[in-house]
Amino acid sequence: MSEHIFDICIVGTGFGGLCAGIHLRSDGADVVLLEAAETIGGTWRDNTYPGAACDVQSHLYSLSFAPNPDWSRTYADGAEIQAYLEGVTDDHDLRSLIRFGCRVDRARWLEDGDCWLVETTRGPVRARMLVGAVGGLSQPYVPELPGLSTFAGPAFHTQRWRHDLSLDGLRVGVIGTGASAIQLIPEIAERARSVRVFQRTPPWILSKPDRRVGAVERWVYRRVPFALKARRWALYLHLEARVVAFVMQPRILRLYERQAARGLRRSVADPDLRKVLTPDYRLGCKRILLSNNYYDAVQRSNVHIDTQSIVGIVPEGVRTDVLHELDVLVLATGFAATAGLSFELHGREGTLSGAWSEGMSAYLGTAVAGFPNFFALVGPNTGLGHSSMVFMIESQVNYLRGAWQKLSSGSRVVEVRGEVQQAFNERLQERLQGTVWASGCRAWYSTLR
Ligand code: NAP
Repeated sequence: MSEHIFDICIVGTGFGGLCAGIHLRSDGADVVLLEAAETIGGTWRDNTYPGAACDVQSHLYSLSFAPNPDWSRTYADGAEIQAYLEGVTDDHDLRSLIRFGCRVDRARWLEDGDCWLVETTRGPVRARMLVGAVGGLSQPYVPELPGLSTFAGPAFHTQRWRHDLSLDGLRVGVIGTGASAIQLIPEIAERARSVRVFQRTPPWILSKPDRRVGAVERWVYRRVPFALKARRWALYLHLEARVVAFVMQPRILRLYERQAARGLRRSVADPDLRKVLTPDYRLGCKRILLSNNYYDAVQRSNVHIDTQSIVGIVPEGVRTDVLHELDVLVLATGFAATAGLSFELHGREGTLSGAWSEGMSAYLGTAVAGFPNFFALVGPNTGLGHSSMVFMIESQVNYLRGAWQKLSSGSRVVEVRGEVQQAFNERLQERLQGTVWASGCRAWYSTLR
């Protein structure tokens, strides 16, 4: 008996995989979703460190076809977003299409069969179209700090939070001061004996206009769907206006820098500490962070910021110019955003990691020459610094639906031509010059570390 060939195989069940699965199935495709974990959720399933929350407003950071009138806050926390995704999965009856506990090891394009052979821990899967929805920020980045493995206590990445471990009364070290760290530090500072923050670069921080969404407002959103839509559009347009500054006139970002500096002056009285917390690069080059409690936390008597370079890790703690003795070490060091897919992909003539060995590139961040009927969600150059990634994902899924339409109406393959991808990438690289991301800083938006 010949093996079943699915129309579409989607790897990953975060926002991207779920959105693609729901739409492509409704377009009539025979879809299977593969998920290495035991439940859906991607980023929001995996990042459960204390204080994890989204810094994009939830009425925008949600799927347009699954509006939620019941968000409890302007910026929902991770648990509420995960619950939303679970609800969307059930409402669209998607679970029956998902193979859980099914890790993809590699996938190979079969030229003679015009399909992908996907090798998984639960056996092979064949599909005409393959969607990589494994997330742009899913592989933890662990810096090569000398002696890291010798640390005597627990040492873990923010994405692998040790919920079995109580930090009460312990001396905790946190490496990094990015989005994850500034959410986490105020939370653990309340419990730990001490928190030592190892800061390499101070982040720009703006206050977070967060509030509870009251019962009346939620009632209005439930009863008047247009009100919810209007709120979403207003948020979208408000955030989109920032593109002018990010892309065309980074100088405008000085206005935000002044706002952030005013916030810092208001929050931190000690001029020496203010100096430590003041960035020296253009706001927006790294992700702009939002917080109402980070500056309060770092002024607590049990929290200390260390700006000396880390020389190495020893069993007792972290060595900078002196030894900082610690019981626990948290790596808030971000993600390997440029590591590519989490599984090996063999296209017509070679692997994706080979094609990307000198830098990731994809047409519209989605299609790659030499990899027919393969599409990446949250692919190269799709990371946003100013708005909702869910909007980007939905735009990519629209593109996928177009590709599926072609495949289902007679085309054998849909594939971007090499010269088209190259021209797209050259234009993109050209246009990146002059944007805030080219203003000189170390950020995951680029490959620099
Ligand atoms: P990140 O922004 O990449 O921050 C990593 C931190 O680790 C930086 O402070 C970095 O310092 C530091 N670091 C890395 N290697 C180091 C080394 N060898 N020595 C010392 N310090 C080192 O990572 P993240 O905070 O996990 O956030 C990643 C992205 O996830 C965010 O930009 C955001 O898009 C997303 N995120 C979003 C939310 C949200 O609210 N929506 C929350 C968390 C995360 P340098 O700055 O000097 O490189």
